[in-house]
Amino acid sequence: MLFDSTHELVGRKNIELFVKGGRGLTALRAPSGKFHLYQFRKPKDPENFNHWCLFAFCRDIDGRWKYTGMLKDTMEFSHTPGSKFSEDSEQFKGAAYIVKMMKNDMDTPMKVYHGGRCSVCGKPLKNKYSLERGMGYRCKKHLLEELTRYNVK
Ligand SMILES: [Zn+2]
Repeated sequence: MLFDSTHELVGRKNIELFVKGGRGLTALRAPSGKFHLYQFRKPKDPENFNHWCLFAFCRDIDGRWKYTGMLKDTMEFSHTPGSKFSEDSEQFKGAAYIVKMMKNDMDTPMKVYHGGRCSVCGKPLKNKYSLERGMGYRCKKHLLEELTRYNVK
């Protein structure tokens, strides 16, 4: 198991919202069983950014979370000078792949999982509705309002 409890995010929309939640942990898993863990985080100082964005982190083999790339409000994912993984690394490509899965309904053997915690507030999720989406009902509502406010694509 990837997490204490592992739940698949099925479908583009669920993956998209979960990532946009801003603090969710995800695992991208290949059919071989190989996986990487990611977290797309909101900036700690959003006032210093003139647009909505998320920073992708990937957990490295040493167990540390390392900055991987940046997701802009236009849903472009890019490698930036601070990225700790090279552009052709599995870690960077995996993060870019998650973004691709957020944008397109893809026929892919790759799977995205979450560990049963809300990607907005971090609390453990209990009911079926929340576990399917990786967020609670109220957090989803607040997130959608926030995304509208920031004009996120
Ligand atoms: Zn929540």
